[in-house]
Amino acid sequence: MYSFNYHNPSSQQEAEELLASTDSPSLLAGGQTLLPTLKHRLAEPSDLIDLKGISGLSGIHKENNSIVIGATTTHCAVSENELVARHIPALSKLASGIGDQQVRHRGTIGGSVANNDPAADYPAGCIGLGATIRTNRREIDADDFFVDLFETALEEDEMILAVSFPIPQQAAYIKFPNPASRYALVGVMLSKTGGDVRVAVTGAGSAGVFRDSHIEAILGKNFSAEAIDGSGIDEADISADIHASAEYRKHLIGEMARRAVEAASGG
Ligand SMILES: Cc1cc2nc3c(=O)[nH]c(=O)nc-3n(C[C@H](O)[C@H](O)[C@H](O)COP(=O)(O)OP(=O)(O)OC[C@H]3O[C@@H](n4cnc5c(N)ncnc54)[C@H](O)[C@@H]3O)c2cc1C
Repeated sequence: MYSFNYHNPSSQQEAEELLASTDSPSLLAGGQTLLPTLKHRLAEPSDLIDLKGISGLSGIHKENNSIVIGATTTHCAVSENELVARHIPALSKLASGIGDQQVRHRGTIGGSVANNDPAADYPAGCIGLGATIRTNRREIDADDFFVDLFETALEEDEMILAVSFPIPQQAAYIKFPNPASRYALVGVMLSKTGGDVRVAVTGAGSAGVFRDSHIEAILGKNFSAEAIDGSGIDEADISADIHASAEYRKHLIGEMARRAVEAASGG
């Protein structure tokens, strides 16, 4: 680990001033990704700005027809929250399936979304539910936020404040987890609101999370598991590694989508 200055601001304004006044700052949420990165000397920030002391960044509330989750809210808090369970149970399930207990107690929604790991659950949750990422500068549609592997639309000194999820009529998240890390080999978040069907896939795309427009079109006409005839994505655009081939991942997308339709339909 290289040396760095540590800051523990108690307000958003203080954090923004530190972002603007330090050489190469890095925001610190639960440290679940950032601390191992620092320990392996893969990053050398001059200053770490810890967000945990900013009380306004944590918590969950309902705003009109949306559930709004503060950036430093932990996965555990989301999985146990009564509002989330009542209005978007698919999101409770997503959060409860992340990593292990320690990761869920430290890891945050803001850190996960900012990190945009290609096998992480929240990117699929955000796109599949049509979420909006709120930052200290603007609001960004999830469809525009996740750009490429570990790359987002966030600018260098931009900070996520919250993620807003519109409440869907039906939704489900189904993941085929890597048995060691629990990251998604393939995960599918599916939602239906009126005639609008969204199907977001994590774990499989060689450029990270994506929408499967083929499955969306099928389900838009006939919202049933039997209607799904597989994923529309080209195998060349699917990742392959020691855990699974592209062919197997493509098969899993169709299968997870079928199970998600059944779960969303109460099956
Ligand atoms: C063993 C293990 C298993 C895991 N399994 C899963 C899994 O199954 N599914 C899954 O989805 N994830 C998994 N994770 C990831 C975990 O869920 C964390 O959410 C993720 O590592 C981010 O961690 P964090 O919230 O502590 O953020 P940090 O590590 O503190 O930060 C991560 C990055 O986000 C930036 N950042 C943090 N907060 C903000 C903000 N508010 N605004 C802008 N940038 C910000 C930081 O600067 C840093 O670049 C796993 C992690 C581990 C260690």
